[in-house]
Amino acid sequence: MPLLLAGKKVLVVGLARSGAAAARLAVREGARVTVTDRHGAAELSEALAPLEGIGLTLALGGHDEADFTTADLVVLSPGVPPTIPALVAARRAGVPVLGEVEFAWRLLDGIPMVAITGTNGKSTTTALTGRLFQEDRGTFVGGNLGTPLSELALSRAKVDAAVVELSSFQLEGIERFRPRVGAILNLTPDHLDRYAGMEDYAAAKARLFGNQQPGDAAIANERDPRAMAAARSTRGDVVTFGFGPRAPMSARDDGEVVRWTGPTGEPERYRIRSRALRGRHNRENAMAAIACARLMGVPGPAVQRGLDGFPGLPHRLELVREQGGVEWVNDSKATNVDSTVVGLSAFPAGNPTVVLILGGRGKGAPYAPLAPFFPGRVKTLLTIGEDAPAIEREFVGLAPIESCGDLATAVSRAARIVAPGDVVLLSPACASYDQFRSYEDRGETFRRLASAVEPT
Ligand code: ADP
Repeated sequence: MPLLLAGKKVLVVGLARSGAAAARLAVREGARVTVTDRHGAAELSEALAPLEGIGLTLALGGHDEADFTTADLVVLSPGVPPTIPALVAARRAGVPVLGEVEFAWRLLDGIPMVAITGTNGKSTTTALTGRLFQEDRGTFVGGNLGTPLSELALSRAKVDAAVVELSSFQLEGIERFRPRVGAILNLTPDHLDRYAGMEDYAAAKARLFGNQQPGDAAIANERDPRAMAAARSTRGDVVTFGFGPRAPMSARDDGEVVRWTGPTGEPERYRIRSRALRGRHNRENAMAAIACARLMGVPGPAVQRGLDGFPGLPHRLELVREQGGVEWVNDSKATNVDSTVVGLSAFPAGNPTVVLILGGRGKGAPYAPLAPFFPGRVKTLLTIGEDAPAIEREFVGLAPIESCGDLATAVSRAARIVAPGDVVLLSPACASYDQFRSYEDRGETFRRLASAVEPT
């Protein structure tokens, strides 16, 4: 049932990108729109700019409960906890509350939708899946990554498919949202500050499949029992991916090729050759993307072309320079130890070739889980930032360690010690805020410094 908003009072709560897009969409649909945010106008200037002069009411710097209880509809941005008192009051007053994704979905005329969630790998898999689709058809790629779904509804662009990344927060706000194909990549402890426990967090993710119908498909990582349990709740087909033995309806990686078996039962083979997809984690992301694309009818050759041409996302094992047989790899998105384990293990063990840059603002978690990945991989450890002393203590004896202090020093030191065949890997296992504005800023700095290294 489409939403009829003409003349209705719509309150949009939370004014980041998706809230701002939802507000514009509600205005276009003829609603009387108020937007509210706990922050004031000064902090929201970026989101407010596109709202200027379009005829909506601003209620900033806090929430007025009356705006909530007298609305015909409340639209919630994903960043806003659904438990804030004014929202509780709205629900108690019988006012419907929809998440931004649900809101946009109801105003999008049945565009075939692929939705991807999980604790890690969402952005990479969404971007890659989008790329595979775009080899074949006009496709919107967005959601939690990049452009909010409301922007698609606003633009009325003619697309044949949408591939969206959804966070657990966004999934909490859905009611009827129904992806033709949904994928849960993995579920590990995260955001447990917002959830009572793992089961609650998994339940939020499982909502992805709640509205599916026969003919739809739920994709899950076979080694993740919670993701698998969620997929089994679908009324559609359960499709798996992983490294295990062959299963019906699955993508499997045998170390050489990915074998896809779809509804026809006819096996197909795909190769993962792009350096943007190195590492076992990326092979999982690629398997999920292949499954999404093939289930929606993207032809095999287009899938292979998309896999080969995928440039990767910035700051995730991003090759920023290759010179004199040395690769400079920016994995600045690795702001915790688990991500650095994933990043470092993407390089083969054997000859130690990795000059690894670690450090920044530590998150208090032990560094020890990285130690097993040092032998056979790490040639030299270069440390930077606040937590360097703790890092150095942890890895004594596993590799030569040089204390560099900052990234510029680490890069110039790396340039002096590398030999052809080596990799300089920035995968810091720490937040960046002691020396940079953000992990993006840190990654950009690395790219700039690496590009300036004199050719040998
Ligand atoms: P998200 O959008 O879920 O944060 P990204 O694609 O941005 O995921 O990847 C973030 C980090 O998560 C990567 O730098 C990598 O360390 C890790 N990662 C990516 N894919 C996976 C995966 N399939 N399994 C485990 N970790 C992964």
